[in-house]
Amino acid sequence: MRGDKQIVVLDPKKYKYNWKVERPERVERSKYFGNLKTVVIDSGICSHCGTCAICPVKGIIVEDKPVDFPNWKRLCIDCGACIRVCPRYTYTPISGIGDYIEVFAGKSKRFVGQDGAMVSEFMASALEMGVIDVALFVSRDDEFRPYVVHVKYKEQLKDTRITGTKYSFAPVMPELYEIARYVDGIGIIGTPCMVSGVRKLQKEIPFYEKIKFTIGLFCTENFYYWQLKEFLAEKGGDLTKATKTDIKKGEFIIDYADGSSFRISVKELEEIVPSGCKVCQDFSAIEADVSIGSVGSKDGFSSVIIRSKIGKEVYDYMNEKGYIETDEVKMSVIQRLCEYKVKIHPYPRY
Ligand SMILES: Cc1cc2nc3c(=O)[nH]c(=O)nc-3n(C[C@H](O)[C@H](O)[C@H](O)COP(=O)(O)OP(=O)(O)OC[C@H]3O[C@@H](n4cnc5c(N)ncnc54)[C@H](O)[C@@H]3O)c2cc1C
Repeated sequence: MRGDKQIVVLDPKKYKYNWKVERPERVERSKYFGNLKTVVIDSGICSHCGTCAICPVKGIIVEDKPVDFPNWKRLCIDCGACIRVCPRYTYTPISGIGDYIEVFAGKSKRFVGQDGAMVSEFMASALEMGVIDVALFVSRDDEFRPYVVHVKYKEQLKDTRITGTKYSFAPVMPELYEIARYVDGIGIIGTPCMVSGVRKLQKEIPFYEKIKFTIGLFCTENFYYWQLKEFLAEKGGDLTKATKTDIKKGEFIIDYADGSSFRISVKELEEIVPSGCKVCQDFSAIEADVSIGSVGSKDGFSSVIIRSKIGKEVYDYMNEKGYIETDEVKMSVIQRLCEYKVKIHPYPRY
């Protein structure tokens, strides 16, 4: 139903939103969620970023399984919000290192993280500066299952369950929609697809400019928790007993509390890489304020790409305070990973 461009106004009392927008174009004659389902979910390009959880009737479920809206034919109110904010509905992959102001390797003197704890340091400094009032972090439970926590005080980041990488999708965006109604300055950490979701959201709905600071993690792929856990168990690894997980030199590594570890080639994980990751070419989180990853710096340091004014201001602050140690970064290594991701994830698929 191309050309179906009426104006939709949602009753703010009923839905807590006050939108007056042009309806997006449909590709098929069904409610908007049906269009999202056909174009993004069923076609296998959904990144599981979770931005579509904006759904005002909370019908869209973003959990540890493909995104779904049970009973959408009856319950979808056909507002078109899910399609407007989805970064994959009209998808042109982005790739490369992107624009930046400064690049360096860094290590926090205050926190212990996956690499140099620079993600934690940036968010803690942004909280101290008053740039944000709360940051959404991805913590983990006793079985290494990710969940989202609100960090308001830097002391919370002494908990090494909150810092560190979880190689599983986490419901950050649904949590954002919960807190955005009450909080003004929000910090978000996410994989590149999540950062693209945040940017699309902010472009479509200015209310979300209250996301003041966005850190993007370098990323090649992510996994469903249940699938990663089962797959590793078949190979002899136990994710539920992990104290840390990492990917280094082509190996997925689980560290256990007794000091032992389990290793498996990342190539073996290929069969459980979700199809939506296989069309993503953004390794360095181009659209973030600050991008942070492991490759390109020595052990114990994080590679940091500062892209925006706010990112630079937070960096200057932590430098003045003496919170970090810096080192050289190997740009050629980051560049190589950016190119590799494009090579292994062609889009459109052939
Ligand atoms: C799925 C995934 C794949 C990655 N792949 C690569 C890669 O191929 N190459 C590379 O160089 N780096 C990769 N990284 C980034 C790397 O593992 C570190 O997260 C990064 O170097 C930051 O380390 P740090 O010590 O500075 O962060 P820390 O201070 O330890 O903070 C990291 C923060 O990241 C957040 N986080 C953790 N897991 C998730 C998640 N699943 N979703 C959203 N947020 C999360 C948490 O809030 C955590 O506190 C990946 C990260 C993820 C989540």
